[in-house]
Amino acid sequence: MPDAIPITVAPCDGIGPEVMDAVLGVLDAAGARLSVERIEAGEAAYRKGHTGGIDPAAWESVRRTGVLLKGPVTTPQGQGFRSLNVTARTTLGLFANVRPCVSYHPYVRTRHPRMDVVIIRENEEDLYAGIEHRQTDDVIQSVKLISRPGSERIVRYAFEYARANHRNKVTAFVKDNIMKLTDGLFLRIFQEVAGEYPEIKADHLIVDIGAARLADQPERFDVIVTLNLYGDIVSDIAAQITGSVGLAGSANIGDGCAMFEAIHGSAPMIAGQGIANPSGLLMAGVMMLVHVGQGDVAARVHNAWLKTIEDGVHTVDIFSRGVSRYRVGTGAFAAAVVERL
Ligand code: NAD
Repeated sequence: MPDAIPITVAPCDGIGPEVMDAVLGVLDAAGARLSVERIEAGEAAYRKGHTGGIDPAAWESVRRTGVLLKGPVTTPQGQGFRSLNVTARTTLGLFANVRPCVSYHPYVRTRHPRMDVVIIRENEEDLYAGIEHRQTDDVIQSVKLISRPGSERIVRYAFEYARANHRNKVTAFVKDNIMKLTDGLFLRIFQEVAGEYPEIKADHLIVDIGAARLADQPERFDVIVTLNLYGDIVSDIAAQITGSVGLAGSANIGDGCAMFEAIHGSAPMIAGQGIANPSGLLMAGVMMLVHVGQGDVAARVHNAWLKTIEDGVHTVDIFSRGVSRYRVGTGAFAAAVVERL
């Protein structure tokens, strides 16, 4: 039996602790070979004065294990705080955000039964580089930063992802008709890199019409690669139209570190009630298992989860009369997945 892989786990805020417990229970039952280091991050860390939402000792764990499974964080109000998500992406150099958005027709109600899209978003540059300054009291300037190494890395990641996952097409979303230099550079690099992957189709769309088509006919897309801000917006649209934001997980990948999380937030209105859907974090856990070389366990968990969804065992967010059979809470959903392992 190979050694357990150390991972860092941060349950964080709102529904985070309850969905994290459910997910760790499933991974354990599936035979995942993991040794878990729990850290405190999010509201508790902000309250202790750590403005980035995580204390220095916890960073040490993340840097050492190189793998963070993270619950959702309630974004603190007011000035002086930095978003933990943005801090983690920039501090750990997590350059690629990978978000698979899949329909589970006919088991989860959706208008897009054949949707199976992966959005790959550049995670460090663009307007998120945080270069803002005040020109006058009434005029603020924000700089959009696009670099050749940053663009080349994310585009190459998208084509490598497509190749490794037997995907046929990569589409770039850009706005090069208006931002001729920044988006123009990204598109030029996309076209250069695409030439190295002749077996994969490559095309590009202006982001506005691309987003409209994605919302209307998502089955026309396979892998989408795009800049940070467009990716932020487009990936939420894509997740929503699969049926529920509670279903999707995402991976943030860097050279030495990776962070896995559900795409939803801390859902404070339903926190502590035991009704949250743990599927988003579980799908993040599946991506994490693949990342740490435990693809066998990942497949077992994914199949058991699919069977649970197919059997109509649904949490309230995806429960629909005529489609669902059992309306269950977080713990019972996790137990149903474990029964099907
Ligand atoms: P949200 O995703 O928390 O909730 C949106 C809606 O979806 C709510 O109705 C909620 O009840 C429902 N929902 C979300 N996850 C669910 C689940 N697993 N099961 C069942 N229902 C679920 O978004 P919000 O309300 O805009 O944000 C709440 C807080 O979370 C904010 O402070 C926001 O900044 C933060 N947030 C954090 C992250 C993150 O840490 N990655 C992401 C998004 C939002």
